[in-house]
Amino acid sequence: MAENQNNPLRYTITAALPYTNGPLHIGHLAGVYVPADIYARYLRLTGKDVVFVCGSDEHGVAISMKAKKEGVTPKEIIDKYDGIIRKSFQDFGITFDNYSRTSREIHHKTAGDFFKKLYEQGNFIEETTAQLYDDEAKQFLADRFVVGTCPKCGHEEAYGDQCENCGSTLNATDLINPKSTVSGSVPITKETKHWFLPLDRYEDFLKEWILVGHKSDWKPNVYGQCKSWIDGGLEPRAVTRDLDWGIPVPVAGGEGKVLYVWFDAPIGYISSTKEWAEREGKNWEPYWKSDDTKLVHFIGKDNIVFHCIIFPAILKAHGDYILPENVPANEFLNLEGNKLSTSKNWAVWLHEYLQEFPDMQDVLRYTLTANAPETKDNDFTWKDFQSRNNNELVAILGNFINRVVVLTNKYYEGVVPSPAEFSKVDLETLAALKAFPITISSSIERYRFREAGQELMNLARLGNKYLADEEPWKVIKQDEERVKTIMFVALQIATGLAVLSEPFLPFTSGKLKNILNVTLSAVEELGWKNVSTNEVLLPQAHQINKGELLFRKVEDSEIQAQLDKLEATKKANTSTALGTGENANKALMPQKDTITFDDFTKLDMRVGTIIEAEKMAKTKKLMVLKVDTGLDTRTIVSGIAESFTSEEIIGKKVTVLINLAPRALRGVDSEGMILMTESADGKLVFVNPDEDGVGNGEGIS
Ligand SMILES: [Zn+2]
Repeated sequence: MAENQNNPLRYTITAALPYTNGPLHIGHLAGVYVPADIYARYLRLTGKDVVFVCGSDEHGVAISMKAKKEGVTPKEIIDKYDGIIRKSFQDFGITFDNYSRTSREIHHKTAGDFFKKLYEQGNFIEETTAQLYDDEAKQFLADRFVVGTCPKCGHEEAYGDQCENCGSTLNATDLINPKSTVSGSVPITKETKHWFLPLDRYEDFLKEWILVGHKSDWKPNVYGQCKSWIDGGLEPRAVTRDLDWGIPVPVAGGEGKVLYVWFDAPIGYISSTKEWAEREGKNWEPYWKSDDTKLVHFIGKDNIVFHCIIFPAILKAHGDYILPENVPANEFLNLEGNKLSTSKNWAVWLHEYLQEFPDMQDVLRYTLTANAPETKDNDFTWKDFQSRNNNELVAILGNFINRVVVLTNKYYEGVVPSPAEFSKVDLETLAALKAFPITISSSIERYRFREAGQELMNLARLGNKYLADEEPWKVIKQDEERVKTIMFVALQIATGLAVLSEPFLPFTSGKLKNILNVTLSAVEELGWKNVSTNEVLLPQAHQINKGELLFRKVEDSEIQAQLDKLEATKKANTSTALGTGENANKALMPQKDTITFDDFTKLDMRVGTIIEAEKMAKTKKLMVLKVDTGLDTRTIVSGIAESFTSEEIIGKKVTVLINLAPRALRGVDSEGMILMTESADGKLVFVNPDEDGVGNGEGIS
């Protein structure tokens, strides 16, 4: 197969299916979606046949768990986040040819059929095993519903499938002191039947295919992880689960069980391709079954085992499918020195970024590419963001384009001048321009996107230096003919930048093409290779448009605001963790009059969960909440709208005073009160119970 892979007939590019239990942050973009999009855009510009697919991953226990916690259906959870995620991808210009959902019919059928075929071929082993069972909740406990002490490192909050502290993969029954997160009770073991993929049978195949076949072309971090898995010995892995949310196991005895989310999710790439082909009137099969197709999976490092070991074993077992040619997984991106964390709100959320830096998608794409965690974990810092923007995008690329466009408009009313004879420097500069597509291609094709992005900036540097050396603004006073040649050369570089920046900075590339008026002219067929092969990119007498600024400076105050926001998050996390605020400097309220025990017992306080939240129109502070109190779902109006968005508090466990006489606030009946306190810096904070193991409706006394 390898000999076809240097010049395949078509490409199938997949990007990890985002899990619909939260919005996207910069780690997702940096790790998977920006590099995948650069790759897909680049291939399209070189005229390749590409399908680039993704979709929302909507099954699995975490969604089922979140739904239970929030008192809503899984469908409500997935619909909400599918919408938010889809919009972020659109906003950041990620050009999937299709973005599907694993809850769709086409995927249920594809994954179900896949399972059935493997079942019928005898690729699975059936085993009745003892699984942890919550006798109080009357259900088997999926791995994520069990926490306990990790037998390897002693971490007390390890999940049934994995310890997040030491990274070990576990079996739920290995945990010391296991506890059900559904009811809080100690689980018992009970027998249940499941289907397993005997990975041990694929060891020889995996050794040959990865350890020998891809020794030199897979990234060392990916290869190394695969090698350690294979060397550690592979064991059968369950492909079904006792759960009520997912794709039903389509064979006899499968009632009440679903496909393990890790069995169904990668098949989602296939379903998404089918959906695309149906819509476009194409045949999906060559994209997955033909040897002259190059299949590339873009993922983060936490998914390596699934994409390099398990999914290939599944594809191999099926027999009709090709295997991935490369899996250029990235390491993790940190934020200001700390691990990105959804639960700790330690993140730059994409939807929030765009509210704060509207129309600056490319700046983030650029910064994340320049700093991509390609070979090791890397850090995103706001200072670096500012300096990449101000010192590179503004000072180099933006400055060059601005000079070229302003001078062309000033000297020639926007008409590309005719060059006279080229000087040695001109010829060298034009030759250097023609070399860039090859240099950048070589980096992209080796999945070195950081390097590729820096090469693009080097082209802008070349242009900047050329103008600075030739000084047309001085020469114009003595030699107008020479300036025509200089501007002609500079305009060729600007056009080269318009083409070659497209994979990296698509919005900027669009603006630049518009300024250079290359979409509506004779040069509209400007592909990647044309930058090397065309004698002239922007012909003389071509009319360009007036300029607009491509980038703006990011001020220190904007960076400080972001750092302050993170600092506040840190403070909130610390005070939540310690159960104490930093109120040393705050004037504390004196103790109130003594009350009797009877007075106290009159207060009926319960644990509840906020399940809906909406800011009340025409008010600044009020928010209308729907709270599940365990007894009922009721409306409570709370003055917290200045401190929280509804997004942040939906799903939050709170303490509610439920027997407070209802009162009408702006025409809405409020039936209770949510207990709040205030942190040292004046931020409202929920008085909330320990989130684990306490159910709605539990009394507080
Ligand atoms: Zn551990």
